[in-house]
Amino acid sequence: MRLISGPQGGRVVLDGTPVLLLCSNNYLGLADHPAVTEAAAEAALRWGVGAGASRLVSGTMTVHRRLEERLAAFKGTESAVLFGSGYLANVGVLQALASVGAGRTTIYSDALNHASIIDGCRLARAETVVYEHNDVEHLAWTMARRDPDPSAPKIVVTDSVFSMDGDVAPLVELLELCRRTGARLVVDEAHATGCTGPGGRGAVAEAGLEGEVDVVVGTLGKALGSYGAFAAASHEVVELLTNAARPLIFSTAPPPPAIAAALAALELLEAEPERVTALQAGADALRDELHREGFDVAGSTTQIVPLIVGDAALAMRICELAIEDGVFAQAIRPPTVPDGTSRLRLAVMASHTKDELREAARVLGRAALQAGFRPGSGGPVAA
Ligand code: PMP
Repeated sequence: MRLISGPQGGRVVLDGTPVLLLCSNNYLGLADHPAVTEAAAEAALRWGVGAGASRLVSGTMTVHRRLEERLAAFKGTESAVLFGSGYLANVGVLQALASVGAGRTTIYSDALNHASIIDGCRLARAETVVYEHNDVEHLAWTMARRDPDPSAPKIVVTDSVFSMDGDVAPLVELLELCRRTGARLVVDEAHATGCTGPGGRGAVAEAGLEGEVDVVVGTLGKALGSYGAFAAASHEVVELLTNAARPLIFSTAPPPPAIAAALAALELLEAEPERVTALQAGADALRDELHREGFDVAGSTTQIVPLIVGDAALAMRICELAIEDGVFAQAIRPPTVPDGTSRLRLAVMASHTKDELREAARVLGRAALQAGFRPGSGGPVAA
């Protein structure tokens, strides 16, 4: 792992070299905002560093409850419950929802869902069917073929903004299909919360589906700059999660300073929505600049922009050359992404200026050519 000295800002010192950081999920730069760090420090003094036990064992602290209420309001749901991390939230939500089906539940999962969803399907011990990425027709066909009984418990689960591709799930169509087939819809808004939609309320809000999706998962560890996660849902579903989600029941509650920090970050986000607008404008600018360099950014429409290279060693080489030239964009290889789709995964931050993003695109274009990859050709530079 590479060493960074200092917070995850738009520019960092990486292994001793100053670089533009283009791969952190601290999208809004809130991780070291003074209001957020002060809230964490005050909470440590007031509540202590650790939560002491699972909330079901030693009670819940008011700071956790306050954040849950704010998150439910932010996501337009009746209720919300915190988890230790986004990973644990996905695992817990799927396992708890599937437990209702007493072994009869089928989970339908998008082919490019995050690893924590894949692991959640495993812990749920439900039959899991993978449908083609963002392909609602394929999902409908698969459901009709495998599970025509409308009374059989079914869950459809998808990222909203996909973590390695930056494209967005067809949420309206997915919800419509779920309603028709009696399936519950779980949407992971890890990369959408704070980034996508009006005021950063997420892709679910952007699609006009606030309060309609059965469970919305979000993390506190990305745009909200802290650590921990939440599931937002109806009172009934939150009650089920609280009593059945094993990662919530059998694990210590998130640390009060992290929760207070997320609360402060959420307040900043709501008070200063221009951060979200700046992030979205920066993402648009970066995609334009990369197109100009001839890069294929796949279907990205968000702050996550993949440069698909294909070969893993080539992706690593481009990453190293770009670092030497002052830009850090991490290479992502299998098993995180499918074979043959190694890439540089770029993540814009609200603090990146248009000039910085333009320069980054140039650096990446140069690094690609130097490594022997011609952007846009899908392959090596011709002899
Ligand atoms: N879901 C998605 C789509 C993610 O990308 C991630 C983290 N990379 C998670 C969940 C896990 O969130 P956390 O980092 O809070 O565990």
